[in-house]
Amino acid sequence: MISNKMKTLVANSSVIRAMFEEGKRLAKIHGEENVFDFSLGNPNVEPPEHIKASILKILNEESPNLVHGYMNNSGYEDVRSKIAEFINKKHGLDLSYESIVMTCGAAGGLNILLKVLLNPGEEVIVFAPFFGEYNNYVNNFDGKLVTVPPDIDTFEPNIEELKKKITSKTKAVIINSPNNPTGVVYSEKAIKELAKTLSEKEEELGISIYLISDEPYREIVYDGVEVPYILKYYKNAFIGYSYSKSLSLPGERIGYIVANPKMDDFEDIMAALNVANRILGFVNAPSLFQRVIADCLDAEVDVNIYKRNRDLLYNHLIEIGFKCIKPEGAFYLFPRTPIEDDKKFCEDAKQFNLLLVPGSTFGCPGHIRLSYCISYEKIKNSLPAFSKLAKLYNM
Ligand code: PLP
Repeated sequence: MISNKMKTLVANSSVIRAMFEEGKRLAKIHGEENVFDFSLGNPNVEPPEHIKASILKILNEESPNLVHGYMNNSGYEDVRSKIAEFINKKHGLDLSYESIVMTCGAAGGLNILLKVLLNPGEEVIVFAPFFGEYNNYVNNFDGKLVTVPPDIDTFEPNIEELKKKITSKTKAVIINSPNNPTGVVYSEKAIKELAKTLSEKEEELGISIYLISDEPYREIVYDGVEVPYILKYYKNAFIGYSYSKSLSLPGERIGYIVANPKMDDFEDIMAALNVANRILGFVNAPSLFQRVIADCLDAEVDVNIYKRNRDLLYNHLIEIGFKCIKPEGAFYLFPRTPIEDDKKFCEDAKQFNLLLVPGSTFGCPGHIRLSYCISYEKIKNSLPAFSKLAKLYNM
């Protein structure tokens, strides 16, 4: 007998599972090459060569007990120091290893943060559209997810609406830039306004509001755009970083949290994050990959591969009549659907072997998300199917 809470969660997961099954079914009928699956955010660009060389070097040269053993639950201190130095150099900060906790990807990082921050019933604010898993992460610790409606013309954070949602129960705000699903990078102006609003509300309500910036796509940006580093703008700020997308290592479960040392209760929070990593069963981030990351801090994937994909798909969609913001980061497009019912639109797309995710999954109906982290050839071959879909709706 599974728990009542889990029964609901399993039922809600079935949309994604159904999509996966549908992909397999269509591939059996039409051939894998004729099915265009834009549903998954699994990077298709290979990890940098240096990663493999580093794994081999570490396995050959370092002591197995060091490479495979337990360590401090927050991660190896030398690895955390190297990451802190890397961030300091890049962003002009003065962090020490004590601000860093190594985590099992961004998901592991967000879960330990919410474990540490939330009492039951406390509120976490997110901006629609948002990564649907935030619902589950907040629910894991009996918090309440509060959604700020989107500004669909810009997909920047809607600050006026945010002001209405902050209450004495607000414990945290999660932002995600570059954004999944829109690909939008929040401007420095938006981050400054957000920081100002949160500081004013903290003062007015006499509470601490922690800002969590979920940044697995920080490095995946185009056209020279800058992603503001929120520790420079707000005192009670965390960054949840991950190498899942930036180095194409999602299966390795490696990332880290950075906390602003000036934040309220910094020492208690860092001690609590260490315990949360252990008691949630992560214990620590994978030991081998902590060491690999420390050796590969300058490594990068070739983001031009994603940029080429973005341009091909975006230009075609605009040409055939879709409305869509040109994203400056991540590997997603988030066009409007010609009808409000985005689920029906995704159902209709299946007749052309197109697998798309409804915007309602991200708290923003009337849109679809397309993941373009697939091969250029596949995208090219899919364009006639998008044209047929547009024709079906007389676009
Ligand atoms: N946050 C966002 C916005 C994501 O898109 C993802 C993965 O797709 C995650 C977090 C989870 O990333 P990770 O694999 O590092 O746990």
